[in-house]
Amino acid sequence: MNNISLMPIPGHIDPVPVPRAVTPREDGRVDLMGLSRPQIKGALEEAGLDMKAAKLRSKQLFHWLYHRGVTDFEAMTDLAKPMRGWMAERFVVGRPQVVEAQVSSDGTRKWLLRSDDGQDYEMVFIPDADRGTLCVSSQVGCTLNCSFCHTGTMRLVRNLTPGEIVGQVMLARDALGEWPKGNMAAAHDVDADEDEDAPQYSPDGRMLTNIVMMGMGEPLYNFEHVRDALKVVMDGDGLALSRRRITLSTSGVIPMMARASEEIGVNLAVSLHAVTKEIRDELVPLNRKYGIEELLQACADYPKASNARRITFEYVMIKDKNDSDDDARELVRLIRKYKLPAKVNLIPFNPWPGTDYECSTPERVRAFSSIVFEGGISAPVRTPRGRDIMAACGQLKSASEKKSKAEMKRLAEEKQAALG
Ligand code: SAH
Ligand code: SF4
Repeated sequence: MNNISLMPIPGHIDPVPVPRAVTPREDGRVDLMGLSRPQIKGALEEAGLDMKAAKLRSKQLFHWLYHRGVTDFEAMTDLAKPMRGWMAERFVVGRPQVVEAQVSSDGTRKWLLRSDDGQDYEMVFIPDADRGTLCVSSQVGCTLNCSFCHTGTMRLVRNLTPGEIVGQVMLARDALGEWPKGNMAAAHDVDADEDEDAPQYSPDGRMLTNIVMMGMGEPLYNFEHVRDALKVVMDGDGLALSRRRITLSTSGVIPMMARASEEIGVNLAVSLHAVTKEIRDELVPLNRKYGIEELLQACADYPKASNARRITFEYVMIKDKNDSDDDARELVRLIRKYKLPAKVNLIPFNPWPGTDYECSTPERVRAFSSIVFEGGISAPVRTPRGRDIMAACGQLKSASEKKSKAEMKRLAEEKQAALG
């Protein structure tokens, strides 16, 4: 489980070696977070339980871990006391370490998380009136270097493990206080009406209703870990999030799209961002390898394998780059040509320190949206969320931000010392 040998994952041109998984824990205990039922069973057998006991205990553990959110073996009341102690000596139920938590003026929350081996990544929670969306990271950084994305400028890249991916969802539930308490019936006793300031709850009584794999990283370059993590998240005995409420976003890793459809089966979002080779090559360098038409063909093949569902195209609106009327018309033509059941999400470009790009004007975004809409394709404009805390799409870049903050602190202290 703790294989730390290097694995190659493709960079935008050459493969980049990144560590496969986290370093083993110093205390030798095994972290169960992110493991499936058979994997928990395997870990229990390896620790000495016979097959029958391991099967029963793995079912109980799965429920405590993912349905109840319990991290302390002592709280697992259907296990005999000696068994709880036995488990605590050998296992832990981990969570990512929280380095910093921020809340935006619009209610968006961002967490800076740290892995056991000291790598930083971020997750974002976006509350809306009728839903709450958790934006989950799949990698520390990203190798793809899209020119408009802050994450792509991070130098350190590592795949997140299933435990670190599921761990984000667990932590969000912890922070939102959403684990069922007491007996199971109490899970439905949400008294949002009594508190006027209470956030709006969705019909099932939960704030966290949707997950988007749109944080740091390219999920299809960490396919197996993302798949295993999402399977745990969708399991009906655990977190039980429906596949219809989960969306995986890819910049267009064509060879993995068919497998994503068959083995994960969640909604697909594709980061298109441009309709000509020249511009998409600049914005999404992966386009040099997997071109636009090939990508649209892969999209046309995607829903066939998983019960016709609409694909979402993401299109970041960058001033004088990809936002002309001609671009909008070409977008309509392409989507029609491939007969895609599609929707286009127009994302106003979110600026970050050091970028040369600017956001399209609101009038341009509206004009673009109307042309696509008149072409018979829904093209809503996404309101930027959490810009003030650098939590909006493409603004995540934790490690260097933190370093520069530390650097700034050191400089400020030096200055203070020089003055004093
Ligand atoms: N790597 C995946 C998923 C993470 S990015 C992908 O690229 O699809 C999530 C979304 O944010 C993508 O559509 C991405 O293109 C978009 N994005 C990146 N930088 C942005 C920026 N500066 N402003 C607005 N959207 C951005
Ligand atoms: Fe990576 Fe997506 Fe950012 Fe491109 S837009 S650098 S693929 S995270």
